Amino acid sequence: MREASPRHSLIRALLLGTWLLAVTLLAGLVQQALAGFALAAALALIWMSWSMHRLRCLPTPGFAPSAPPTPSGHDPRRVRRLAAQFRALRNAVAALPDAVVLLDEHCHALWFNPASDALLGLRRPRELRCDLRERLRGTLIGDWLAAGASEPLHDMPAPHDAQRRLSLSLIPVGATQRLLLARDISTLARLEQMRRDFVANVSHELRTPLTVIHGYLELLDPEDVPQLAGVLGDMRAQSKRMAQIVEDLLTLSRLETQSGASEEPVAMAPLLATLRREAEALSQGRHRITLEVETPANLFGSLKDLHSACSNLVSNAVRYTPSGGSIRIRWQQLEDGSGAFSVIDTGYGIPAHHISRLTERFYRVSSSRSRDSGGTGLGLSIVKHALSMHQARIEIRSEPGQGSTFTALFPAARMLLPGASDNATPRG
Ligand code: ADP
Repeated sequence: MREASPRHSLIRALLLGTWLLAVTLLAGLVQQALAGFALAAALALIWMSWSMHRLRCLPTPGFAPSAPPTPSGHDPRRVRRLAAQFRALRNAVAALPDAVVLLDEHCHALWFNPASDALLGLRRPRELRCDLRERLRGTLIGDWLAAGASEPLHDMPAPHDAQRRLSLSLIPVGATQRLLLARDISTLARLEQMRRDFVANVSHELRTPLTVIHGYLELLDPEDVPQLAGVLGDMRAQSKRMAQIVEDLLTLSRLETQSGASEEPVAMAPLLATLRREAEALSQGRHRITLEVETPANLFGSLKDLHSACSNLVSNAVRYTPSGGSIRIRWQQLEDGSGAFSVIDTGYGIPAHHISRLTERFYRVSSSRSRDSGGTGLGLSIVKHALSMHQARIEIRSEPGQGSTFTALFPAARMLLPGASDNATPRG
């Protein structure tokens, strides 16, 4: 075998450093630098472990760093160097504040770092090779693992300490192994809760004074003070706008704190008729409004929240479609059994690069157009939250100058066909 020179070692160390730095920086771009470092270090550790195993330095695959016998036919200096690099990496992963658990194809923990004790309650050496699904059975994290853990899990209570909040992801490694990463996000979760409380409290405190001001402004008759008629009109419009922002913020914070939609059958026919009436009232005859009910199916969920989501979509269509345009409200059941509520307009449309950001709070394509039409910039945020409580999502298609289609897609489990209402059980 070729002898390893010091130059080789330097190149190896440089490669390793570059790998760790590159992945950490890339992950840093999405504010996941620590998780990126954990992943890069863990992957490098696995690679080193595998290299050592190839050299027959480890008795078993995985992580059993016992002192290896020097195999005949291998360069002892290379073996020592690999072992030192392996230890250095293992120490780096061990020092991470995130829990890192290497799992085999049967979800057995092949190796985990000390943080896994604090975050997941895993004890060494007792729980090495334990089935993690069994070990965490009965907890939300155990359910997630048992269900295949295909999506990352955010803001979950730690298995043995509900005050501690974790964010988890499961990353495939090679053909069969997987890496479980768990991160303590308790501080972030607390800050997020503080933000929610603050917005809810401020909105709540502003509601009463705004109602009083609005009430007095309504009492003042511009004809009594003609010189102030213009000012009075502006004051009324602005106080109405503020009141609408406060109402929308309160709706959003209610949706954020609610844990799930109430489970009641919601009759779609009257809801759709109400939406059409609302659209006509807002349009004042400026648009052609049609209703296409293609399925008699109803929905399981909260009438209030479904109405809030759908009416926001309808009012946007009216507000962002110039006079003479048309608006179609459509309710249908798709082939896979899911439900689709669509609002199709022939309005201004939205340039493609704005679409992914429309559901952010206060995000507007054109601020002046939104304000002029009485918008608060919170409508689609409310839609997104109300839909996600129904495990539904929004799909937006739009062509500038041609119009937009906003579709709320409901899972088949929430669809209720007439006649099945008495015995059907909704699945959230
Ligand atoms: P707003 O109160 O400003 O309407 P929304 O959250 O409801 O706030 O919508 C965000 C932005 O998305 C709007 O400001 C508008 O630019 C754009 N938008 C929403 N619906 C439509 C639509 N049907 N046609 C064109 N643009 C739309």
